[in-house]
Amino acid sequence: KEVAVVGGKKQGAELIGITATKDGNFSAWYQELVLKAEMVEYYNEASTEMPSTASMYIWNTIRNWFQARIAERGVDEASFPMFLSKTSLDKEKDHVEGFAPELAWVTKAGDKDLEVPVAVRPTSEAVMYPYFSKWIRSHRDLPLMLNQWNSVVRWEAKQTTPFLRTREFLWQEGHTAYLTEEESAKEVRDILELYAGVYEELLAVPVVRGKKTEAEKFAGGAWTTTVEAYIPANGRGIQGATSHCLGQNFSKMFDITVEDPVNKGEKIHVWQNSWGLSTRVIGVMVMIHSDDKGLVLPPRIAKLQAILIPVGITAKTTPEDREAHAKKLEEIRVSLKKAGVRCDTDLRDGYTPAWKFNDWELKGVPLRIEFGPKDAAQGVVTVVHRHSGEKGTIPIDDLATKVPTLLEDIQKAMYDKADASFTEHRLVLEDWEKVLPALNTKNVVIIPFCEAPACEDRIKDMTKEEKPMLGPDGKPLPSMGMKSLCIPFTQPKELVSGTKCLNPECKAEAKSWTMFGRSY
Ligand code: AMP
Repeated sequence: KEVAVVGGKKQGAELIGITATKDGNFSAWYQELVLKAEMVEYYNEASTEMPSTASMYIWNTIRNWFQARIAERGVDEASFPMFLSKTSLDKEKDHVEGFAPELAWVTKAGDKDLEVPVAVRPTSEAVMYPYFSKWIRSHRDLPLMLNQWNSVVRWEAKQTTPFLRTREFLWQEGHTAYLTEEESAKEVRDILELYAGVYEELLAVPVVRGKKTEAEKFAGGAWTTTVEAYIPANGRGIQGATSHCLGQNFSKMFDITVEDPVNKGEKIHVWQNSWGLSTRVIGVMVMIHSDDKGLVLPPRIAKLQAILIPVGITAKTTPEDREAHAKKLEEIRVSLKKAGVRCDTDLRDGYTPAWKFNDWELKGVPLRIEFGPKDAAQGVVTVVHRHSGEKGTIPIDDLATKVPTLLEDIQKAMYDKADASFTEHRLVLEDWEKVLPALNTKNVVIIPFCEAPACEDRIKDMTKEEKPMLGPDGKPLPSMGMKSLCIPFTQPKELVSGTKCLNPECKAEAKSWTMFGRSY
């Protein structure tokens, strides 16, 4: 049934689903969606939220996938304290400056002031590296490769958004040390490829791999690589995950050295990397795939891939027919389960099939399987795809082979749709006049850029939006300029020598094609 939409909100008292619309007020839609689809609960005092068990299922699927791959590389699991001493933190000046505004400090124990306050880790470089210095004694101790799964705290001043930017978030942080720059650089790229795999293979989200500019790189690091995603509904870019080469900056500050195995007697400062992927990935996936009916989950990470719903049972159905129907339904469930499909049957009393359809659509289950007396008579089930609404039938005898294939087809269709949208909205521009109109029509742009931080600041100012986006309360958000997202590893085309930076005020030569966009 058509629903009237006024001011970005659906009208009608009978609605149990989401009242905001994705096109009408994206930010209100997202906030409402993650609550109603039971992805998060709010915890108000710290204005943060906690992931639900449904979200933790997704996170753990990602965790298992990634953990298996880094374990294969020889990375060990570690656990370091969550408190950070000021002395250790102060060692790397750029690093501490980068994080200072977001640090949460413990200043009291009970009612007594602490003599030396400690910070809660925003990331663990400064907690771990004093131990690297202690544990790395010779080149035989290299590479040292550690990873921990934990939560970190960043007291974000920017507006928080569930999953994307929260004050406490779950992540993994990998920290490694190598003898040579080459080995360390190779790992940075290998890990980035795993991050791209999390997005592309599990979450059906396409990403652009690239390097951050100087202005956007990790505080205290040498260079940062990133995977960048794109949210079609508002045209914003979002940093997906980052893999950093720290160079020798930290090893110099924390005195992490080994004797040079070739030039005996000489000291080498080790080459270090750090890399992190957070629960942000869940938010990106939700924003890209979900719709006005609720969540849309890619089959590979959905806890429930198919929900079986009995239909066509009425007051007139005889007890014998009911029993036969229930038995057949259970047989279907068991055969799907045997075929490796994560499925369940919705036998809740007192709810109509239509109510159940809405409820499972809201929760994003990829496939709805309806089974009624009419289906039974023909030996089929009716299936409805969550992502497209497409409806069809499958013979009961073919379920065990057809459903797993169908789920994989859905996964691919979701990726292809997101990829087509990102490709279409990634505009390669050589004319500055086209930049603002492109941003205002939900694109990100790839332009010739000099890569200078001052020029990047200026570009941000010059591209503040004319019509700011609305916040969850319907009020306009602060006007936003574009920032650099990354210098894509795959450049769109050759940069002809002599090409100038696209900023008309900048006279410098362009160094690369750089992707810019309004972003989270
Ligand atoms: P960083 O250590 O700053 O490079 O962050 C590592 C990754 O964590 C980033 O790529 C983000 O995807 C993610 N991240 C950073 N800040 C937050 C936050 N406040 N909430 C959720 N995820 C975050």
